[in-house]
Amino acid sequence: MYYIDPHIHMVSRTTDDYVRMARAGCVAVSEPAFWAGFDRGSSQAFADYFRQLTEYEPARAAQFDVHHMCWLCINAKEAENVSLSREVIAMIPEFLDRPGVLGVGEIGLNKNTKNEVTIFEEQVDLAMKTNELILVHTPHLQDKLRGTRMIVDILTSDARIQPERVLIDHVEEHTIQYAREAGFWVGMTLYPTTKCTPDRAVDMIERHGTDRIMANSAGDWGPSNPMNMPELIRTLRARGHDAMTIHKLVYENPLRFMMQARRFNFSPPLPVRPEGQ
Ligand SMILES: [Zn+2]
Repeated sequence: MYYIDPHIHMVSRTTDDYVRMARAGCVAVSEPAFWAGFDRGSSQAFADYFRQLTEYEPARAAQFDVHHMCWLCINAKEAENVSLSREVIAMIPEFLDRPGVLGVGEIGLNKNTKNEVTIFEEQVDLAMKTNELILVHTPHLQDKLRGTRMIVDILTSDARIQPERVLIDHVEEHTIQYAREAGFWVGMTLYPTTKCTPDRAVDMIERHGTDRIMANSAGDWGPSNPMNMPELIRTLRARGHDAMTIHKLVYENPLRFMMQARRFNFSPPLPVRPEGQ
């Protein structure tokens, strides 16, 4: 079955991962800009990272028949450094018009600090001024509920935001309804340790339905599994979901969201049905 992984950090993964993902049916990925595991020392380091995301990684992915798209931003962790963040934000427009850049992300909160909120709001403003989609990272564990509510409040109080153009990612059982009630897309991250397992993701789908929801592996340099989307497909099948429902969740829904981007540049191997069919 064809699938899309809409949130995966392929710059941290090996070519063997691309081979395994392609064999399992992965036809496209989208890669948000995030923390590298260390704080970068200058805006030039981000310029190089944005070149990696927009030039090198799509070419590497294409060798394995995986289409690679990306998101650009300064992540919440490094947003603590406000002056560096502003230098990076000023540079992002230079890169936004590159092919396959889907929007601004993954922006959001990490520890829910004042500086993080400032930089989150400035990047939301950039996305609105440049007519970009937004991908939002919500905090981990104990900070998640409060951070998600703060993020949803900031977004819903901005009249320019169209909720169908925003994806709130890393939702869990206790946060999913805040994002969905406000009309946003939601993403469930299938992590081996924190966040959500395939079984918990299926529980949430059974409870909340299949509209405006998607899943991802968020595979990165930490404990994570780039093969968690095929795991989810197996779990959905084992729990009796039919092929069209699974296809909608792992293929059509991420594409429906991404196709709104100005520079969406993927020709899907199967067409995406109009919403509601
Ligand atoms: Zn991420």
